[in-house]
Amino acid sequence: MVLADVRLAEEPPTLLTVNAVGDAFAFLAPFGDGYHRVIGWHRGRNVPDTEPLDLAEIQEITRLALGRDFGTHDAGWMSRFHSDERQAPAHRVGRVFLAGDAAHVHTPAGGQGMNTGLQDAANLSWKLAAVAGGHADPALLDTCQDERHPVGGRCCAAAAGSSASPWPSAPGPSRPAPRSPRS
Ligand SMILES: Cc1cc2nc3c(=O)[nH]c(=O)nc-3n(C[C@H](O)[C@H](O)[C@H](O)COP(=O)(O)OP(=O)(O)OC[C@H]3O[C@@H](n4cnc5c(N)ncnc54)[C@H](O)[C@@H]3O)c2cc1C
Repeated sequence: MVLADVRLAEEPPTLLTVNAVGDAFAFLAPFGDGYHRVIGWHRGRNVPDTEPLDLAEIQEITRLALGRDFGTHDAGWMSRFHSDERQAPAHRVGRVFLAGDAAHVHTPAGGQGMNTGLQDAANLSWKLAAVAGGHADPALLDTCQDERHPVGGRCCAAAAGSSASPWPSAPGPSRPAPRSPRS
């Protein structure tokens, strides 16, 4: 997948522009400061993230998916990108706690990753403070698993569902549970 912040010679007719044609997908959204974010993917062109990227490739994917590139020019920034998809089996192993993308990572489709990570952190932080302050039983810390692991799982499943969609994923199995530092 390619990402770029670009200027456009022509304003797209709609605020958000998205389409897929054949193997090409593109999404355009304005930042309001003259730049648009382009997200594009050509399913037949899965190259390493380190492969050099230029404006011509971004213009080509945009044309394939949207019919035209709206006069894309002056890329302020561009990058290749791939999405990981996996979930750690445990939010807690001994003194180690996971939250956010470390606990569950999925395609950006649906825009849930940051929100879910903040909720993990909110769930964990007051419990850590309560236990560290001697106001709660240490077993309280184990409730993060029951409360947050299903949420991360649902996000991964929902994102995978929406990625009948365009977002390419890095292949790879789920990682095994880490061993407890106590064992
Ligand atoms: C293109 C894209 C669009 C997205 N859009 C949305 C959206 O619209 N809405 C949404 O909710 N989410 C979105 N997300 C997901 C969101 O960005 C992530 O879920 C969120 O940033 C995860 O936060 P985190 O703190 O868990 O992990 P990260 O943001 O990955 O933070 C981890 C930090 O740890 C640092 N680090 C790693 N290893 C070490 C080490 N060994 N020592 C010290 N530091 C280390 C890293 O450098 C990094 O700064 C999007 C993601 C992408 C890629």
